Amino acid sequence: KVLLEVAGLRKHFPHGDAPAVERVGFSLGEGEMLALLGPSGCGKTTTLRMIGGFEVPDAGTISLRGRDITRLPPEARGIGFVFQDYALFPHLDVLENVRFGLRKMSRAEGEARAREMLALVGLSGLERRRPHELSGGQQQRVALARTLAVAPPLVLMDEPFSNLDAAMRVETRQEVRKLLKSSGSAGILVTHDQEEALAIADRIAVMEAGRVVQIGTPDEIYLNPVSEFVASFLGRSNILRGTANGMRVDTSFGTLPLSRAANGAVNLAVRPEQIMLEPDAEGPASVVGREFRGHDQLYWVQEGERCMLVISGPGANIEIGARVRLRICDCVVPLV
Ligand code: ADP
Ligand code: MG
Repeated sequence: KVLLEVAGLRKHFPHGDAPAVERVGFSLGEGEMLALLGPSGCGKTTTLRMIGGFEVPDAGTISLRGRDITRLPPEARGIGFVFQDYALFPHLDVLENVRFGLRKMSRAEGEARAREMLALVGLSGLERRRPHELSGGQQQRVALARTLAVAPPLVLMDEPFSNLDAAMRVETRQEVRKLLKSSGSAGILVTHDQEEALAIADRIAVMEAGRVVQIGTPDEIYLNPVSEFVASFLGRSNILRGTANGMRVDTSFGTLPLSRAANGAVNLAVRPEQIMLEPDAEGPASVVGREFRGHDQLYWVQEGERCMLVISGPGANIEIGARVRLRICDCVVPLV
């Protein structure tokens, strides 16, 4: 069931050379988690601010459960927000901050709910602290707890985990996903972190220069990127040339299956883990670089003019300088 429908959104700021956001459209189901993913400056925050009502679009419409909200003020939309700079009330303690949105409940009910939310974000025991007595990461979790406490149908989050350390970030993002799922709230998460988007979103909208260039599930986007931009933004890719004929493509690695049909000269994306590295004294390629990463190893392999990035298991043990042969053992992706 559709919760949010965004169509043809456009925002051109005064003095901006190009529109910050152009022709952005997507829909979001009830309870769905969407990540808006893209590099800094691609229009993610502007898109989110228009959905939240903090920015009026030049064109386009936003509707929530079938109601046109394009021009409603933020407080009339019933949408929750978690900002990059979490705005906590400095004179209220943690518990009161979280209870703020629960004023319609009785005091006892509100406090119980606030304590439950604080436990979920790992802040039990800090109820009586003031915001200035917390670390940045703890403040961010209070802000999350405050927003999620009222279980809004949609929660907008702009880089909400960026102030947390790596381990806390992984834990918190899974908690947030669980919290949203269990309360039935949908979420839109703005992030420039591809790992974060892949880890918690049901679908990802990849943005480039103000537009959504691809939208799909994490595996669709990762395994079948539409362009070199998307392929390289979501992890590393090798780019090859080839001549496509329907579902097959001729390359210097032989004829390979394609992930989707194409014809004529194409660029192809090949993930480093889709390439097999075989030691071969007669091989046409040689290892020029190597990085041990624990769970796997990266190899840079030179073959003629071309340098390919290959990922293999931690057990492979091929020295720099060794002659090797590369084999592509999977379908490759034609790019536009
Ligand atoms: P992101 O969140 O993806 O980093 P933003 O939506 O913040 O990107 O910005 C998109 C573009 O719009 C950038 O070029 C930025 O400089 C510009 N921009 C954002 N907000 C304003 C504003 N209030 N006035 C003028 N330009 C803005
Ligand atoms: Mg931003």
